[in-house]
Amino acid sequence: MFRFTTIKDYHKALQNGQTTCVEAVRFFVQSIQRDQHLNAWIDVYEAEALASAASLDQSRLAGEPTGALHGVVIGLKDVIAYKDHPLTAASAMLQPFTAIYSATAVERLLQAGAIILGRQNCDEFAMGSSNENSVYGPAKNAIDPSRVPGGSSGGSAVAVQAGHCMISLGSDTGGSVRQPADFCGIAGLKPTYGRISRYGLIAYASSFDQIGIFGNSIDDLALTLQVIAGTDAMDSTVSERPVPDYSAALPASAAKKYRIAYFREALDHPGLDPEMAKAIRNFIGVLQTAGHTVEPVDFPMLNYVVPAYYVLTTAEASSNLSRYDGVRYGHRTKEPIEDLTEWYKQSRTEGFGKEVQRRILLGTFVLSAGYYDAYFTRAQQVRRLLSDQTKAIFSTYDAILSPTVPFPAFPLGSMGQDDPVAMFLADIYTVFANLVGIPGISIPLFRHSSGLPFGLQLMTSHFDEVSLLGLSQTCMQLSQTTTADAV
Ligand code: GLN
Repeated sequence: MFRFTTIKDYHKALQNGQTTCVEAVRFFVQSIQRDQHLNAWIDVYEAEALASAASLDQSRLAGEPTGALHGVVIGLKDVIAYKDHPLTAASAMLQPFTAIYSATAVERLLQAGAIILGRQNCDEFAMGSSNENSVYGPAKNAIDPSRVPGGSSGGSAVAVQAGHCMISLGSDTGGSVRQPADFCGIAGLKPTYGRISRYGLIAYASSFDQIGIFGNSIDDLALTLQVIAGTDAMDSTVSERPVPDYSAALPASAAKKYRIAYFREALDHPGLDPEMAKAIRNFIGVLQTAGHTVEPVDFPMLNYVVPAYYVLTTAEASSNLSRYDGVRYGHRTKEPIEDLTEWYKQSRTEGFGKEVQRRILLGTFVLSAGYYDAYFTRAQQVRRLLSDQTKAIFSTYDAILSPTVPFPAFPLGSMGQDDPVAMFLADIYTVFANLVGIPGISIPLFRHSSGLPFGLQLMTSHFDEVSLLGLSQTCMQLSQTTTADAV
């Protein structure tokens, strides 16, 4: 029987003839079929994936060189373009739309020998924290299907959690990879802004958006990041810095002793589940015992991060989503409306869901002449101050440690229905990394007394994914070697 642990082990099994890429694809397709009720996938490209698996098997058996992601079975959040395949951002606005080119990240996956298995459920235009804002209906948490998997990349997280694929690509604008990884008990990495090309990623808020990676192990994240990161002529915001060999760097960076800061206000926050606060404090003790320095720093701006994030991202979204007007792109109403403005309104009303409409309206408001300075300019100033403070922290520390989300996965339909701000506030720990552009990861270390998993978030300075992955590896190892009580 096929069993997936890590890409490295899978590659060994392929080389030893213990398994084949075809067997892997068959296994994952069956798992997806078994778990249809989780609604994690929108489309599964079964025949195509099997054909590409067969050709990869053939070339490997013929002794041809294999790529770094040879036969690795990967799913894509429905905001990442894959040529000639549907792409809708889980929105009626883009149904039916077929991508006419592939995202750079996808091109690189394919060049490295990966197999794209399908398209995964998410919140509409990546706006949300629960995957409940999807035109395809909510994805569900495999640990408890009455609960949300988190969002917006909910389907992508569930797919890895439930063993439907080896890796998923999602997008993270304010936590959409780290937060569902936390809720699902897996690892989720958001690299530095500018590390991975956004070409072919449907835009939500362009100065925040970054493709992120879900996996079971730090090794798998390192290997995948290595393949998809790096400069791209199609996206001028991608850094030209060389991409380190993350896998090769991992043993040394996992052996280092780190200087880690945590925000006093984050762990003392009244919204943080007390049991989670306790588990994280205990783990800080574990890190200190292992020889790392972990110290509190003051971060009085914590309560400004969510407002600044929602002002800036909705402003950017209102501009980015203006292209979906039913003329050039997007759903076009069939109503016999003569007046052009009314016709636009009707098309956009039919095409966009409630949350997306709310954000477009909010973003348009904060950019309007009378309110621009009061909201948009102020939020930009907060962003600047945050960047300055972050620089100061990283002049002393290698990393910042924090909760990923203030509470574990909540029941479907239980949050944000009447009060959208309640859902926004849950992003308190994740939006910071996007506001300042640093890399962040959520690693699955803890289990709540309710039985639900939750993660630890780590962040490092710009382009220091080597330390981020190394420290994550250390933490994973420490959590395995310490007793459950200690953690
Ligand atoms: N929950 C956040 C939001 O709704 C994050 C979304 C994201 O990262 N795409 O905006």
